[in-house]
Amino acid sequence: MDFDADFLSEYYKAVDILTRERLDRLKKRQKVDSTSNRAGERLVSYKVVCHYCQEEFSAKSNAAKTCSDRCKKRLSLERKEAKRWFEGNKEPIQEFNETVNKL
Ligand SMILES: [Zn+2]
Repeated sequence: MDFDADFLSEYYKAVDILTRERLDRLKKRQKVDSTSNRAGERLVSYKVVCHYCQEEFSAKSNAAKTCSDRCKKRLSLERKEAKRWFEGNKEPIQEFNETVNKL
């Protein structure tokens, strides 16, 4: 079976969105030690690449995924859409996977 370009681009887009988090977890985040604050506490931050806009930002938490609330909302929307796309395309996805397995 032939798969059209639209199907393939939607498929890879959805896979990318849904696996981004897992791939990010495998990477070691760079710790950036910033100077102490006025109270003398050492402030630690992490270099993180935003899961939505792909911009690098520094976060106080090692668990941060997005640079802003705007990106957080958009990422969550994107993930929902990707999951819905998978749900609605089970058959072509299965055919696609079977085709790939035969290669
Ligand atoms: Zn962002």
